[in-house]
Amino acid sequence: MTERPKPGFETRAIHAGARPDAATGARSTPIYQTTSYVFDDADHAASLFNLQSFGYIYSRITNPTVAVLEERVASLEGGRAAIAAASGHAAQFLAFFTLLEPGDSFVAAPNLYGGSVTQFAKSFPKLGWHCRFADPNDVEAVDRALGADGKAIFVESLANPGGVVVDLEPLAPLARARRVPLIVDNTLASPYLCNPIDWGADIVIHSATKFLGGHGNALAGVVVESGRFDWFASGRFPAMTQPDPAYHGLTFAETFGDFGFTMRARAVALRDFGPALAPMNAFLVLQGIETLPLRMARHCENALAVASHLERHPKVAWVSYAGLPSSRYHALARKYLPKGAGAVFTFGLKGGFDAGVSVVEAVELFSHLANVGDTRSLIIHPASTTHRQLTDEQRTAAGAGNDAVRLSIGLETAADLIADLDQALARG
Ligand SMILES: *Cc1c(COP(=O)(O)O)cnc(C)c1O
Repeated sequence: MTERPKPGFETRAIHAGARPDAATGARSTPIYQTTSYVFDDADHAASLFNLQSFGYIYSRITNPTVAVLEERVASLEGGRAAIAAASGHAAQFLAFFTLLEPGDSFVAAPNLYGGSVTQFAKSFPKLGWHCRFADPNDVEAVDRALGADGKAIFVESLANPGGVVVDLEPLAPLARARRVPLIVDNTLASPYLCNPIDWGADIVIHSATKFLGGHGNALAGVVVESGRFDWFASGRFPAMTQPDPAYHGLTFAETFGDFGFTMRARAVALRDFGPALAPMNAFLVLQGIETLPLRMARHCENALAVASHLERHPKVAWVSYAGLPSSRYHALARKYLPKGAGAVFTFGLKGGFDAGVSVVEAVELFSHLANVGDTRSLIIHPASTTHRQLTDEQRTAAGAGNDAVRLSIGLETAADLIADLDQALARG
């Protein structure tokens, strides 16, 4: 028999991780709406609790619907294994809890999703984890920020809100040389547009709430492990390399090898903190992923049409979309996002803050709300909402100055989106 090639992305988006239900033949993945699972006998129960065999105990730790989602996202990202969580923020927490000890530090890009900056800068220090921010497109700055004790590098492949593309390729050798994992939040690109593991990422994180789910109806997060990080090389990841007395002295990196990180995140972080994904939400995200390739292609096509139109509009001062040749990130977008530069971008209004407020109030088809990655087109004026607490200088640094409006372009007819923005700009 000839060996079949690895199935294409579209095939994996529909099939990876799923098979007809063993009990009923159900073709669509069932929603296993159960908290717990009957053991075969006492020995079976003991071996599950000891992590000596794989199976289901309790849905805080594993659930069959959630497991299909985990396997599917791992496949789409080219990773070894994945763990799902109740939200993108919960996924980030599971990853860092598995990496860091109290007193540890890591380096992150300063232009992350606003909620991640707050999580890292305000809440993580209460756990003894310290984040230093450094420009990810300046490898020497990242190296300096790591210092002697930095234990991870965290960036977004495509950053919100400013259409910033990170140059991943030079970061991977730095992470390798410093023996720290490179963690990439791939939410805005989605695995259809970019696979960070191909560029050397060790861990990929998603807010599946956004394009993976894609319909604005479920919170979810996923952590994907590449399986390639050497936990033993630095001696600085004791959670991975030292025996765990709670599991009869097993060592996660040794016992589970290239999926040890996922096992540890599940068997310790998810078990003890509990941000488990509900099976219903896993089902909704799976449903979304089946059409991810079609949706992302149209999201990108519509975004380019809207961005090109806005760039020519007399009331618009600037458009920051990496898909436009005028963007300083255009060359990076062509390298890392050859199928399209995503669907979230900002533009600036010559009329400043007041014009931003008036446009979000005047749109009729766009929805004024704080989310991205929906079938529906979304609009927000960061200075009066998500970035309200920041100073003018911080807002400008985050690409969300007073004049900036952020769009997440949906799947409606592009001409209707353009007409809606035109009428709103005319009224402002
Ligand atoms: C939304 C988002 C998050 C947080 O995800 P939740 O699902 O809202 O918790 C993290 N990173 C990025 C880039 C996001 O857009």
